[in-house]
Amino acid sequence: MDELAEKKCIICGEPKTEGIHIAAEFICDACESEMVHTDVREEKYNFFIHRMKQIWVEKNV
Ligand SMILES: [Zn+2]
Repeated sequence: MDELAEKKCIICGEPKTEGIHIAAEFICDACESEMVHTDVREEKYNFFIHRMKQIWVEKNV
């Protein structure tokens, strides 16, 4: 399909070709791996959660 198409990462805002999709949104590999390593860094984890909540709110309006 369009796997090679660039998508805008919702976390860093940069266009990337590799990453994962969550709730129809895109998170690039770099941010995804960073999220995996945020277990011990709650502040950053909360930041990610906050970002995703914003997305869902936007989608559900
Ligand atoms: Zn990113």
